[in-house]
Amino acid sequence: SIPLGFFGGIGAASKCGVLIKGSNYLEKLTQIDTVVMDKTGTITKGSFEVIGIFPARKGLEEDLIRYAVQIERNSNHPIARAIANYRSELVTEELTDYTEKAGYGLSATLKGKKVIAGNERFMEMNHVEYKVPKMLGTSVHVAVDGEYIGCLIVADVVKEESMKAIEELKKQGIQKVIMLTGDKKEVAEYIGGEVGVDQVYAELLPQDKVHQVEKLIEEGNKVAFVGDGINDAPVLALADVGIAMGGIGSDAAVEASDIVLMQDNLMQINKGIEIAKYTKRIVK
Ligand code: ADP
Ligand code: MG
Repeated sequence: SIPLGFFGGIGAASKCGVLIKGSNYLEKLTQIDTVVMDKTGTITKGSFEVIGIFPARKGLEEDLIRYAVQIERNSNHPIARAIANYRSELVTEELTDYTEKAGYGLSATLKGKKVIAGNERFMEMNHVEYKVPKMLGTSVHVAVDGEYIGCLIVADVVKEESMKAIEELKKQGIQKVIMLTGDKKEVAEYIGGEVGVDQVYAELLPQDKVHQVEKLIEEGNKVAFVGDGINDAPVLALADVGIAMGGIGSDAAVEASDIVLMQDNLMQINKGIEIAKYTKRIVK
């Protein structure tokens, strides 16, 4: 039977907005030595802004913006929301064959033209030659009927508490804090450096994130994974403890997780670990 004290721990945690789905996760939380975090929406705010417009040549600026806005309006990705909001006044044009490719970008047909928008990898996959602007940020390249139109740069900012939470995790005995992201290397390393994670793995596809965590578990680490997106659900389910951002997180992420952070604040993990350890001490 489960000692009554564990329920006290769950109650104390829930008062701090940390919802623990079972007493076994409270126990597991005390054993974690590696915390793996998704970047977007977990370490960063997940609210991007357009910070640069780079048409492939003069005269293409309006086309670049228009195509990007029309196609990105259909996606719920935080990058897409930034681009859609950039010119929300544009009248919606009819669009067919819309497809979203996780970790790459979007494609659709707009007035008979095939439009694609996404990262470098997506352009390569579609055999489109692109140019990467010299500006730190995530690039969204656009091509129409195979012709390169240009690139928009979007950027996100770290949450105020991310650095402190990571520092505290180290003090609580967590040996490694690792950041995973599908975003490009330069951006990932910049953000990883800002918040002080030990390792950064960038340009990962959703399945690569699963493999990274699988490997860490196989190597004997006790792994907690923190994420918020639809694509994070398989990783959340796989980790020893899956922690979802409950406010901004997708239903799939919340469902697949063992612990839900109602305030989307990484400091809640520190609180959760503290409560878990305290509960264990008084229960034993
Ligand atoms: P993260 O690991 O930061 O959560 P994702 O796996 O969601 O990132 O996406 C990885 C990358 O795929 C993004 O950084 C971006 O380059 C590209 N991407 C994903 N969705 C879109 C979109 N709607 N428009 C443009 N690019 C996208
Ligand atoms: Mg994500």
